[in-house]
Amino acid sequence: RIVYVNGDYLPEEEAKISIFDRGFLMADGVYEVTSVLDGKLLEFEGHLNRLKRSLSELDMAQPPQFDDLLEIHRKLVADNDVTEGGVYLQITRGAADRDFAYPKDATPTMVLFTQSKVVEHAPAAQTGIKVISIEDIRWGRRDIKTVQLLYPSMGKMMAKAAGKDDAWMVEDGEVTEGTSNNAYIVKGNTIITRALSNDILHGITRASVLRYAREAQMRVEERSFTIEEAQAADEAFITSASTFVMPVVEIDGEAIGEGAPGAHAKRLREIYIEESRKRAV
Ligand code: PLP
Repeated sequence: RIVYVNGDYLPEEEAKISIFDRGFLMADGVYEVTSVLDGKLLEFEGHLNRLKRSLSELDMAQPPQFDDLLEIHRKLVADNDVTEGGVYLQITRGAADRDFAYPKDATPTMVLFTQSKVVEHAPAAQTGIKVISIEDIRWGRRDIKTVQLLYPSMGKMMAKAAGKDDAWMVEDGEVTEGTSNNAYIVKGNTIITRALSNDILHGITRASVLRYAREAQMRVEERSFTIEEAQAADEAFITSASTFVMPVVEIDGEAIGEGAPGAHAKRLREIYIEESRKRAV
């Protein structure tokens, strides 16, 4: 693979960053994952806007301009022949002698790489996924997309150890989100998902899916729900850049609805793919 490091395009074996990089030492960095379909980027503008917000919330320098960043994404997609998959971008505060206080003038480190994988016809979209619930013990600024991903990673492993696919995190009795996705339930014609706050990541896919749901005459309620309410719902699903809309068919061993992907989730997945494709850059 050809990867990008601070202005250079290099074979991945030659890409290097400092051991003093604060991203490595302190998880002092943010990231974005932009999906690729038909060799084009989905929701590029949304990801760039969230990146800018994450950086400003952490008092870090703003990223390159829209056109320059788009050019880097496109070059990597082309150089690596990615037709489907994603582009990972990470910006850290940069290298500095290890200290909890950070220097105001550190030079940020920016790396990007591509991953080719099946997204549109992922087998899980046909079967749906099974989730477990776990306590949400992450920090209080989950709206910032930091690389501090140890607990979500452990949550994913807990799900795997239980023979399931993912975990929904619960705080004060209510679902926050999945390990790497936003969580939804469906009751009748109503799509229910937690409202935006510092408690969850403001999903780019979430924003689009809720807009498409309203356009398709579905009702949208942005509010919290419990695992019990989810288990009694007609449908459940998750959204993220790397899964689009993915049906959830089981929560903590309880089948949701018929135990198969629900009609609203399937429809929203189709609409999301069709609309994102049209808008891809
Ligand atoms: N919530 C968390 C914790 C995530 O890590 C992600 C994506 O990585 C999402 C939600 C979904 O966000 P997006 O739709 O922008 O990919």
